[in-house]
Amino acid sequence: MTARVLVVDDVEPNVRLLEAKLQHEYYTVITSNSGEEAILKALRDNPDVILLDVMMPGLDGFETCRRLKEDSATRHIPVVMVTALDQREDRIKGLAVGADDFLSKPIDDVTLFARVKSLARFKSSADELRLREAAGRRIGVIEGSLNRDLGLNARILVVEDDPRRAARLKKILDVEQRPMLMQDANDLGPMGQSTVELMIISASGVSFDGLRLAAHVRGQENSRNLPILAICEPDEKVRALRALEVGVNDFIYRPIDDEELLARTRTLVRRKRHLEHLRLMVDSSMELAVTDQLTGLHNRRYMESQLKGLLARAARGGPPVAVLIVDIDFFKRVNDLFGHDAGDDVIREFALRLASNFRPRDLACRYGGEEFVVIMPDTNAADATMIAERLRSSIEEGMFKVGAGRQVLDITCSVGVAIGHAGELDFEALLKRADEALYVAKRSGRNKVVAQAA
Ligand code: GH3
Ligand code: MG
Ligand code: MG
Repeated sequence: MTARVLVVDDVEPNVRLLEAKLQHEYYTVITSNSGEEAILKALRDNPDVILLDVMMPGLDGFETCRRLKEDSATRHIPVVMVTALDQREDRIKGLAVGADDFLSKPIDDVTLFARVKSLARFKSSADELRLREAAGRRIGVIEGSLNRDLGLNARILVVEDDPRRAARLKKILDVEQRPMLMQDANDLGPMGQSTVELMIISASGVSFDGLRLAAHVRGQENSRNLPILAICEPDEKVRALRALEVGVNDFIYRPIDDEELLARTRTLVRRKRHLEHLRLMVDSSMELAVTDQLTGLHNRRYMESQLKGLLARAARGGPPVAVLIVDIDFFKRVNDLFGHDAGDDVIREFALRLASNFRPRDLACRYGGEEFVVIMPDTNAADATMIAERLRSSIEEGMFKVGAGRQVLDITCSVGVAIGHAGELDFEALLKRADEALYVAKRSGRNKVVAQAA
């Protein structure tokens, strides 16, 4: 995957060097010589990753990072701090101001590409969700804001077969997380509806292959999005990179630095919760967008899009499509006599009975007010009329309870039936014919089924 990388360093040769390396790997590079300019370019060019030098005159890397992470317009862009030498203090400070990762100079190529790739991958899935979330907000199906999660108190599964090392990991994590130890990775089994938010896997386990385990977790539907942190031996750089390739999100070398482990853990948990939250919002907004809120049936928009598709299939030689429009008789009286809430009760109960009268592949939806549409794929006129008649009589026979069951009403409905012509693509014309049939049913006394000759 290619990505746009913003390289920030006050020393021009450093910028040129990184630029050359990244361009050689087909990344698009934007450059900047100061923190101030970097913030402007981050806003303007929306890079996928920012490589940020720590030591700069004016705004230094920490302050630049802090500002980028404070602004909701740039917060989502992953920042990699580039520190001189292996400065532990700098790394900790960088993670504290919200940096997503760090590299130390001189920058090792393979590590550079691995980190950039992994962060760009995260950004691209987050971007897609962010776009859909923004769309959801515009049409009003998503409200509320994303809170900034601190990445604490997560359930973390630590897979390490060396008891001494496992105990030490647990002791570090216990300070702010909820780690669970697993010594035998063969106990893992399928990841069911697990509440684990992060896995920490020792890449140097003796009784299990850490990378194989990581690949397994990544490959399973239930744990596809579970972040994984690998712990590698310092002399195992190639293995660390292999780990990233099989889907590990981050790695840390032994000897483990407590602060670094905690900071990386927090970042991974925060990221996972952020994506999860976005996903949930987007999923529920999709659900909202196709569902009628009062009845839980599909709404008109969804019905129309499905009907269009079915007609296109029928036109290509597929089976005929039948449409029913069902309208409650004298519904206004229910509202007038018993109140609007009682009216809503009737609509809900009516929807339940309607839905229970059809096959799973028929599509029942609320068309508006007290009107419903049922689409029946692969159904001819005679069958459609018979099914409509069965619905009509079941509504007539059953009683409707309103006002917490205190009153019982007799309800009837009228039904118009229409069948798609061979080759017909105009769903509006089809619905109109069903509506005309309904009108005839109403005019001729209600509580009736009328089929319009095609
Ligand atoms: P007809 O037999 O000709 O269909 O008569 P009707 O009274 O059922 O039809 P009409 O179209 O005159 O009135 C429908 C009423 O349904 C008017 C409207 O206030 C009411 N209605 C529409 N949507 C809702 C709703 O969501 N809840 C409730 N309680 N009433 C609704
Ligand atoms: Mg009505
Ligand atoms: Mg009506």
